[in-house]
Amino acid sequence: MYSKPHLPDRRHAIVIGASVAGLVASRALSAHFRSVTLLDRDEEPAQAVPRAGVPQGRHIHVVLPGGVRALDRLFPGRLPELVRAGSQPFDYGQSQFHMCGQWMPRIATELYSLAQTRPFLEEHLRRWVRELPNVQAIFGASVTAPIYDGSRVTGVALQYAGSGRPEELRADLVIDATGRNTRLPRWLAGDGYPPVPETSIGIDLGYATGRFRAPGNLRPTHPMLYIVGHPPRETRVGVRVLVEDGVIFGGMGGYHGDHPPADLPGFLEFARSLCQPDVFDVLSRSELLSPIAVYRIPTATRRHYGRMAQFPSGILPIGDAICSFDPAFGQGMTVAALEAEALMDCLQCHGRADESFRRDYFRRADAAIEVPWAVSTGENFKYPQTTGRRPLSFPLTRLYKDRLATCGDAAVIHDFYRVVSLSAPPRILLRPRVVARTLGLWR
Ligand SMILES: Cc1cc2nc3c(=O)[nH]c(=O)nc-3n(C[C@H](O)[C@H](O)[C@H](O)COP(=O)(O)OP(=O)(O)OC[C@H]3O[C@@H](n4cnc5c(N)ncnc54)[C@H](O)[C@@H]3O)c2cc1C
Repeated sequence: MYSKPHLPDRRHAIVIGASVAGLVASRALSAHFRSVTLLDRDEEPAQAVPRAGVPQGRHIHVVLPGGVRALDRLFPGRLPELVRAGSQPFDYGQSQFHMCGQWMPRIATELYSLAQTRPFLEEHLRRWVRELPNVQAIFGASVTAPIYDGSRVTGVALQYAGSGRPEELRADLVIDATGRNTRLPRWLAGDGYPPVPETSIGIDLGYATGRFRAPGNLRPTHPMLYIVGHPPRETRVGVRVLVEDGVIFGGMGGYHGDHPPADLPGFLEFARSLCQPDVFDVLSRSELLSPIAVYRIPTATRRHYGRMAQFPSGILPIGDAICSFDPAFGQGMTVAALEAEALMDCLQCHGRADESFRRDYFRRADAAIEVPWAVSTGENFKYPQTTGRRPLSFPLTRLYKDRLATCGDAAVIHDFYRVVSLSAPPRILLRPRVVARTLGLWR
C-alpha cells in the first residue's frame, strides 16, 4: 500500500503495549520502519481468553462502523476472516436502540459494525501483526521508563518477567500504547516536563457483564439491542449483544453510584428495572455461563498532548493513553484504529519524525477524538452530578442532537448514524437541508 522510504531515522520503532492500540500502531509503523518491536508485560495468552493487562476484556467490545473501515484499511482483505470465525457483522442502522425515550427507527445504512468478544478480536489482530515480516512481538516485557539523549527519547528501559536485571532497547520512535493507566504523564513530569493538560469528566460509572446462552427459541434476530434510560431521571443503560459461538453478552451500566451488582439475582433485577423489558426478557430465560464481571469507571479522561509547548521528540502516545472514553459508547477501539491511520498518514507525509510530524500527529489524533468525545460527554452532561466543565455550547448542541435523533426523518437519521458511528464528519449535520428537515421546516 505504501512505499518503504528507509529514511535514516526510521530504522527501529518500539510499541509499548500489545493490546488493540499497540497492535494497530505496529501495523502502521511496519509500513515505514525497517523493524518494529512490540512489547507487553503480560505473557502471550495461548487462547482467546481475557488477560490481566486488559481487565476490560471480559466486557462487551463492539467495533463501530468507523473502526471497521479503519481496520479494513490497516489490514486489507483480512476482516472476512473474523466473520468466518464468528464475529457478528451487523448494519448499525438496523440495531435496536432505545434512546431519548423512544425506539430509534431501524433503517438500512450499510454502515457495518462487528460484535465479538474482546480476546477473540485481539487474538486475530495479534496473528495478523505477527505475520508482518518486520514486526517482532515480545511478551513478558515490562517497560519501566523511556531513555533519553538530551530532549530526544532514544529507547526504553525494560524488565523481562522472571529476570531482575533491567535492560535497554534503542529505537528511533517509541509509541506508548499502555492504556488508560499510562505512566507517560508521570514519566514526563519526572523528566522535567510541565504537567500534561487534561480534561476529566466525573461519571462514576459501574459496569457489569454476564455471558449467557439463550434457549433456541429466544435466539435474537439482530446482534445488538441497546437501552439508554432517560437522563437525568434514569441513570441506567442495558445492552445485549450476540457474539461468536452463539453466546449472548448482557451488559448493565449505571452512572453516579447507581452500579449494577455482580450476583445473578441482583444483575437480573437491574435488567428488569431498565425502561424497556427487552434485555431482561432474554437474559432472565438464559443460562449464565461464567461469573458476572464488574468494572468501575470513575472518569472519562482526555489528555491534550498537542497543547504542550515542550514535549520530547521520539515518543508518541496512542489509544486510551491519550483518551479513555465512557465505555458505554463503545468508541475506544475505533478511535485507536483511526489514530493508527493518522500515524500512518503522518509517516507518509513527513520525511522526518521532527516537530512538524509530531504536531501533525497530535492534530490528527485530536480530530479523531473530537466527535466521539463530544458525543459521549454530551450524554454524560445530561446528569447534573457529572463533574467537569460543560462546554458553553452544551444546551444548544444537546437540543439539536436530541432533535436529530427523534425527528423521525429517515434521511436525517441516516446522517446522524453516519456521524455517531464515526463514519462521517459532524459538519454533514449542519448542511441546510439536514437542519431544515431536523427542525421540521422541510419534508
Ligand atoms: C468496560 C469496558 C468496555 C468497553 N467496551 C468497548 C467497546 O464496546 N468498543 C470499543 O471500541 N471500546 C470499548 N472499550 C474501550 C477499549 O477497551 C479500549 O479503548 C481499547 O482496548 C484500546 O485500549 P489500548 O490498547 O489503548 O489500551 P489497553 O487495552 O488498556 O491495553 C494496554 C496494554 O498495555 C500493556 N502495558 C501496560 N503497561 C505496560 C508496560 N509498562 N510495559 C509493557 N506493557 C504494558 C497492558 O498489558 C495492555 O496489553 C471498553 C472499555 C471498558 C473499560
